[in-house]
Amino acid sequence: MRLQLLPSTFEGDGVSPRQHLTCFVIDDSVAVDAGSLAMAASKLQQNEIRDVVLTHAHLDHIAGLPLFIDDHFSTLTEPITVYATQPVIDTLERDIFNWSVYPRFSELSNANGPVLRYEPFGQAEEFTVKHLTFRPIDVNHKVPSTGFLISDTTTTIALSGDTAETDGFWNLVNAADSISAVMLECAFPDELDDLAVVSHHLTPQRMKRELEKFERNCPVYVVNLKPMFREAITKQLAGLNLSHLSVLQVGKVYEWA
Ligand SMILES: [Zn+2]
Repeated sequence: MRLQLLPSTFEGDGVSPRQHLTCFVIDDSVAVDAGSLAMAASKLQQNEIRDVVLTHAHLDHIAGLPLFIDDHFSTLTEPITVYATQPVIDTLERDIFNWSVYPRFSELSNANGPVLRYEPFGQAEEFTVKHLTFRPIDVNHKVPSTGFLISDTTTTIALSGDTAETDGFWNLVNAADSISAVMLECAFPDELDDLAVVSHHLTPQRMKRELEKFERNCPVYVVNLKPMFREAITKQLAGLNLSHLSVLQVGKVYEWA
């Protein structure tokens, strides 16, 4: 299994390490969240990705979705399928694809047929996307939000999505047959603890306590560091002295066999 956190922005000739948006691409063919999908996906990924799985409806996770559908509108030979919980689908239809912010693509077709369809999933109900199995679990965010175990035939990884303290996610991770990596959010530095509490995110100190629930022995990659606090958070994470913990590099392709 290959996983890439798509870049949000570019600096000079290269990828900026700062993560404004969230879009993971698995095996160049399935997107988990769509923050920078339209802006940063490679040509191959643009051509291959027709399935988008969403953790939640916050803007940094969906910003690239309307643009991606727009970009490919006339050439799609199958609809873009969005997998999400019903509350997330309702938010997209009410607040984004509402003819005011952007067209209601779920009502539109090109010469080949519909361009957007929804595939709702329920919490804890396993579903399949291409060659991947998703096990969703409700996590603790300001809005309905989901973390996932994602498996192919040989590898399982876990994505927390945006979340504050959660037991369900760790129970799912700890119960997995084997696990190769965990992607865990940490949005704010310790000194913004109040903001982390009201917005339902983690800080390094809160993450440290969360990791006491983690009973597996695999790398934990930290994601969703707010760009303006990236250096402070990175320094505080290093101060935790946890050898299996590191910040996921934006744009880098990680591979597990
Ligand atoms: Zn969020």
